[in-house]
Amino acid sequence: MLILLNLKTIRNDIDLIKETIIRYNCIPHEIPGEIKLAIGVTGPTNLINEEEIRKMKSVEEVIRVIKKYKLVSREMKEEDTIINIGDSKIGSKDTTIIAGPCSVESKDQIFDIAGRLKEMGINILRAGAYKPRSSPYSFQGLKEKGLQYLDEVKKEIGMHIVTEVKDTDTLSIISEVADVLQIGARNMQNYSLLEKVGKINKPILLKRGMAAMVEDLLLSAEYILAQGNYNVILCERGIRTFETSTRNTLDLNSIPVIKKLSHLPIFVDPSHGTGYWDKVSPMSLAAIACGADGLIVEVHNNPDKALSDGSQSLTLKRFEKLYSKIKEIVPIIHN
Ligand code: PEP
Ligand code: MN
Repeated sequence: MLILLNLKTIRNDIDLIKETIIRYNCIPHEIPGEIKLAIGVTGPTNLINEEEIRKMKSVEEVIRVIKKYKLVSREMKEEDTIINIGDSKIGSKDTTIIAGPCSVESKDQIFDIAGRLKEMGINILRAGAYKPRSSPYSFQGLKEKGLQYLDEVKKEIGMHIVTEVKDTDTLSIISEVADVLQIGARNMQNYSLLEKVGKINKPILLKRGMAAMVEDLLLSAEYILAQGNYNVILCERGIRTFETSTRNTLDLNSIPVIKKLSHLPIFVDPSHGTGYWDKVSPMSLAAIACGADGLIVEVHNNPDKALSDGSQSLTLKRFEKLYSKIKEIVPIIHN
């Protein structure tokens, strides 16, 4: 249920409405936004006497939201959600590029890559310290040591850090370093992890599960928003299909689909989406052309020797070339 309020509503009226909602055992969520003043309501809303709410002071409209997901929907919030990470306004007309290696492998490796990306104008670095690998025998990440290197890079080079949190045990130590917490494809439906990051006041990059429908992704984001964290960036990273010529099938259809259904920003990961470095540049440009708010791209200083995902990583030189093309097409797309 969505309660639209008069723009001049005073705090006391908002609190009275919220108290009434709570009396019905439902949860009121003040929807952040500039155009409308609104309260989203979740829980057993069928028990609410709509007439009672409609008659309350400052209430302009009461709308039933039929979709399974509520807080992430465009019905609840018409305007795009904008998430600030440093100077980047994710979800606005900016197209934000996040780049970096799949994993932190050594201090030299992460400093070299971060330093060179920073020179190119990239301000948000991706790199995993705790890696969820399909095989238990694959490199699992440098863990605490990796986090420490990320913290050093953040302070010495001045990069914002995106890194994955794969379980609730490591959430608090990762949160000390990360500016954005990545929830990986394998954890998109780890509901206890989603609820925990929903209680943290930090942007979350939520990747689409490899067998998840768009609706599943939106429902997972709903878990985070329902806990009070509205700073969720969705991420299309390819899904499993019968096609084997690429690692995954990058579902670019999902970008305009999600833009219509949700106010949350949507990123594309062309690296996991394709699995091969030579497909990364064309799919990056395509993603921007179809409305993605940004990209998260794997870049390595020596992909042949990478400890994870080398085959889909761009060299720094190749990334630089892609980045200059991106800067050329962005103004055209946003015109
Ligand atoms: C990653 O970003 O390195 C990663 C493991 O991604 P995904 O969860 O999309 O597979
Ligand atoms: Mn990877």
